[in-house]
Amino acid sequence: TIILGLESSCDETAAALVTADGRILAHRLATQEEAHRPYGGVVPEIAARAHVEALTPLVEAALADAEMTLADVDVIAATAGPGLIGGVMVGLVTGKALAHAAGKPLVAVNHLEGHALSPRLADPTLQFPYLLLLVSGGHCQLLLVKGPGDYSRLATTIDDAAGEAFDKTAKLLGLGYPGGPQVEKAAKAGDPKAVPLPRPLVGTAEPHFSFAGLKSAVMRAAQSGQYATQDIAASFQQAVIDCLVDRTRRALARAEGVTALVVAGGVAANGPIRVALERLAADHDLPFVAPPLWLCTDNAAMIAWAGAERFAAGLVDDLTVPARPRWPLDPAAEKARGAGV
Ligand code: ATP
Ligand code: MG
Ligand code: FE
Repeated sequence: TIILGLESSCDETAAALVTADGRILAHRLATQEEAHRPYGGVVPEIAARAHVEALTPLVEAALADAEMTLADVDVIAATAGPGLIGGVMVGLVTGKALAHAAGKPLVAVNHLEGHALSPRLADPTLQFPYLLLLVSGGHCQLLLVKGPGDYSRLATTIDDAAGEAFDKTAKLLGLGYPGGPQVEKAAKAGDPKAVPLPRPLVGTAEPHFSFAGLKSAVMRAAQSGQYATQDIAASFQQAVIDCLVDRTRRALARAEGVTALVVAGGVAANGPIRVALERLAADHDLPFVAPPLWLCTDNAAMIAWAGAERFAAGLVDDLTVPARPRWPLDPAAEKARGAGV
């Protein structure tokens, strides 16, 4: 079974071909970083237009890489949300058109499920259920991953996502866009103990994450003129690590029977964060699984793979499936906490 995956929910346009047994036949990606750089963040209208221009050529290129045509594809998987609605619609409508024209089944994929299942594409031995720390530009959650479409959310951020905190810190420090990799780079030359910064919610009975107070403290430190940029970056990164590790440790103490500690999402590309989580997993005698860096940030291979897992579970969509700007993996938990979290 061959799955074509499409991704267009944020600022990367991507197309990939994977097989149901986890071989990546082709993956193509066009990033819009340059287009958004002057604005210091993603501009939705610019993003949607760029997706329109990039997607079809990327699909053709991926098919050419795999020496295939659309007729060889068995399933079309497209991100249907959550994300910037203009971009999501581009990918989903393209997926619907391809599915309709070629007479192939369509799987509408939740972008977060793409991130959540990507570790199983990287490591086929990874079994359900696993504890997932999903850390990306828009999300920071701890999820019990029980199977395709089957998630329990144990924790989420009550304000900013971790990736958002990286991006805002980079902006404050004048490190440019996109922020995460720049902060990591600057932090290498800095002292993580140089700047006293808060660790919001660490050590509390509360399961959730919070990064807004940390961001404000970084702003005060930067404005004080007392500290070197590298030291602020390193201290900020260490504070994020301490928050992620503490919250994940708390969840591990309560999540029974998990096979592994897994991290996914763009922030999982951060080296020191991976090292700290690997140590935490070892403390709990659990395997640690993290996808390779390119599979952590947005890509279409993870969407194709989530499509493969859903298709294998009989989860197919019809052409009326909507694009959704918001789409929680665990709607019950989202409802219990109220909208916005
Ligand atoms: P979501 O998946 O929640 O919809 P998104 O798709 O924008 O959001 P991803 O592409 O998964 O997010 O991740 C991008 C985020 O990851 C950005 O906030 C970016 O700063 C962060 N990031 C990328 N590389 C690193 C790194 N090396 N260190 C820290 N953060 C990083
Ligand atoms: Mg991006
Ligand atoms: Fe993402």
